[in-house]
Amino acid sequence: MTISELVRTDGALPMTESFEAVSLGQLHDQASQVDDELLPCRVNNPELWFAESPVDVESAKALCQECPVRSLCLDGALERREPWGVWGGQLFLQGVVIARKRPRGRPRKNEVAA
Ligand code: SF4
Repeated sequence: MTISELVRTDGALPMTESFEAVSLGQLHDQASQVDDELLPCRVNNPELWFAESPVDVESAKALCQECPVRSLCLDGALERREPWGVWGGQLFLQGVVIARKRPRGRPRKNEVAA
């Protein structure tokens, strides 16, 4: 079962029992029924959602919390493995959710090379 086959019915974190199977197209249809003016990323500066500044990224994550399609947005971003940006109230980097953006600068001394 993949994330795109699921839709949350109770707004809770993913749990198999609380999902019903739907297609990715159905998820998109549900999101498109919401007025754009209710989507924080449509009524605020969209650059916030792809900002370099950790402060701006945290602002975007906070604004997403009020979004009526947040869980759908997050599911879609996980399915697409978004390379970067804030989606569904989470920060993505190279397809996975990361806790926070590190500011530019010198890497940590003990950082392990990839
Ligand atoms: S949850 Fe998604 S659609 Fe809603 S404001 Fe955040 S990025 Fe935009």
